[in-house]
Amino acid sequence: MMKTRLEALCGKKIAECSYEEIYEALMKIVKEESRSQGRKVEGRKLYYISAEFLIGKLLGNNLINLGLYDETDKVLKEGGKSMAELEETEAEPSLGNGGLGRLAACFLDSLATLKLPGDGVGLRYHCGLFHQSFKNNLQSESPDYWLNGAQWAEDTGKTYDVSLAGETYRARLYQIDVTGYGGQTNKLHLFDLDTVDESIITEGIRFDKTDIEKNLTLFLYPDDSDDAGRKLRVYQQYLMVSAGAQMILEECMERGSNLHDLADYAAVQINDTHPSMVIPELIRLLGEQGIAFEEAAEIVTNVCAYTNHTILAEALEKWPKEYLEEAVPQLMPVIRKLDETVKERTDDAGTAIIDEDGRVHMAHMDIHFTHSTNGVAALHTEILKDSELNGFYKLYPEKFNNKTNGITFRRWLLSCNRALAGYIESLIGPGFKKDAGELKKLAAYADNGEVLQNLTRIKAENKKLLAKWLFKKQGILINPDSMFTIQSKRLHEYKRQQLNLLYLIHTYFEVKSGHLPAAPITAVFGAKAAPAYTTAKNIIHALLTLSKVVADDPQVSKWLQIVMIENYNVTAAEKMVPACDLSEQISLASKEASGTGNMKFMLNGAVTLGTLDGANVEIQDCVGEDNIYIFGQNSVQVIRCYERGDYCAREWYETDANIRRAVDFIAGDLMQAAGDRESLESLKRELIGKDWFQTFPDFNAYVVRKNQAITDYAVNPEKWARMALMNISQAGFFSSDRTIKEYNEDIWHLG
Ligand SMILES: *Cc1c(COP(=O)(O)O)cnc(C)c1O
Repeated sequence: MMKTRLEALCGKKIAECSYEEIYEALMKIVKEESRSQGRKVEGRKLYYISAEFLIGKLLGNNLINLGLYDETDKVLKEGGKSMAELEETEAEPSLGNGGLGRLAACFLDSLATLKLPGDGVGLRYHCGLFHQSFKNNLQSESPDYWLNGAQWAEDTGKTYDVSLAGETYRARLYQIDVTGYGGQTNKLHLFDLDTVDESIITEGIRFDKTDIEKNLTLFLYPDDSDDAGRKLRVYQQYLMVSAGAQMILEECMERGSNLHDLADYAAVQINDTHPSMVIPELIRLLGEQGIAFEEAAEIVTNVCAYTNHTILAEALEKWPKEYLEEAVPQLMPVIRKLDETVKERTDDAGTAIIDEDGRVHMAHMDIHFTHSTNGVAALHTEILKDSELNGFYKLYPEKFNNKTNGITFRRWLLSCNRALAGYIESLIGPGFKKDAGELKKLAAYADNGEVLQNLTRIKAENKKLLAKWLFKKQGILINPDSMFTIQSKRLHEYKRQQLNLLYLIHTYFEVKSGHLPAAPITAVFGAKAAPAYTTAKNIIHALLTLSKVVADDPQVSKWLQIVMIENYNVTAAEKMVPACDLSEQISLASKEASGTGNMKFMLNGAVTLGTLDGANVEIQDCVGEDNIYIFGQNSVQVIRCYERGDYCAREWYETDANIRRAVDFIAGDLMQAAGDRESLESLKRELIGKDWFQTFPDFNAYVVRKNQAITDYAVNPEKWARMALMNISQAGFFSSDRTIKEYNEDIWHLG
């Protein structure tokens, strides 16, 4: 079947086709199949609006979801081709920065799998998140052109006019099919301008930030370290929400809505504050249809819900009123009225939409004018209610709820780790693919020596595959017989890659003085730093420089290797996750809202080394204290310490000899000989003078806990495999199917 279809489309035998030809033919087949899967929309339909959809490559995942993977794999093999090489043909759509965008992609998969009517709404960036490479141990950025060759997204021919700074731009609607696993096909709607021009990119990822017509959807998240960059973000956001709101109203009216009853037809989920302007935009559009402000505000409140993703104050968007006056003058009268409405409701100035300095707080608008505000892990939601958003919680306790994040098991197990998925199926049957809770059945094998050995063998195979991939990609050889500790996530001080750095330096000294670790360690990192985030870039530089210093030392390199994977993205994550022994989730407690990387690693049989932060807390609840390595301050201690404002990094540096030795090493002779003096010294200064995310107080506990994990891994492989098995068996709670069911039951009520 697949063979005849493929050969008919290519017009020749598979053996004679290039991978590009096969890829295009398969894309056509997938599109036909997903369309025939169809769907019927009745009642409420969800629009998940998000500036990011980090969907990753689509071919393999779509084939799995449509039940075509095994047959395709077989047909390719018969023709002397490999699926793995075929997948190299596809460019990854990196339409997101990290966790938040990846979450949106997992949600789309779960919605379609659960046969719920729910579409994504976003932007079709011409360049996704920048491509990262390392030159002289420094990050260098280049544009990520992914729109070459055959495209999953199709031009619908529909356009919507959007007014920016008084000029009209035409947003064109593209659509990507979202196939569910044995489910239905939903859509991802992405808007773009025809006039965007890639030739305005000059050096690296630089471009003229003022030429809206040519740059509007050119890049995901243009650098916002200057005014022009910040304004461009406002323009992008408004393009997305205005075109999106028009599309939503059009669809609902076509389905019979008279707009007064909009909430019976549409639910809009606002993913973080980037799409917040959809609220005033919908009110404005309803006004144009003759609905008075008060009723329109009520309708929109009933339609919209908001997800908060962070408690880091600097990430909660506030735009100066003047920006919005200039960019979206048509919205300001609505925003002002919303602000007045709030000031009638409460005299708590802390919840104002427009503050005394004339800044518009997007999250505040969201909470006042949606019916639901959710956090993304139990701890995060409690912190929102108790501290960060306490003023709002007092006003609207009924609006606050928690929806612990999840991941799609199709991509993060069935697709990325076929060996493990197959083995699990042979033990407990295929039910876990649709009902992740069934993974619990694995716990019955916790004391089965043969099963534990097989798990260890699969992990060893996956480590070899990662080593092979890394060698091909970066020419780096790693030892698959060492313990793989992996920290992969955006580079941010709160995630504390610098704590890992200090551990690695500490270990360097330990080996030098004859205190060998229980097993050789390969510390793997994957991380991009925002182009304007200097400290993050300094941390990357320190890690890369240390990697070289260690590699050049024959005594230490036997025990320790440090590698950074270039251009960390979904494709890289899919290679790293199945190969991990120890999953590093070491953010400063209270700062990581949830994390989803932690869930991916757990599902694939890694053991977590982490702080009691975000969803780590719930991972511990699921697996029990014996199957996770927890260390460090807890969130209550951290929050109190910030309130007191009395943390003094220098004191730790001066009183703790191990900390001082490691920190001094960063800018010491060996590192300076291999790296950039200024960058290294600046990182050292940052740590001693500030250490805003408190690596020093957690340093000793981290060293002890991590060494304990390494010892357990080395000394008692069966105990380790048992921990891995317990992690897999308890991962069901972290399926995004569970998360989506909760959103639907508590917030959306779809269908
Ligand atoms: C899952 C994922 C993330 C999020 O990782 P966290 O550890 O939760 O921050 C970021 N980037 C990519 C490519 C991912 O797949």
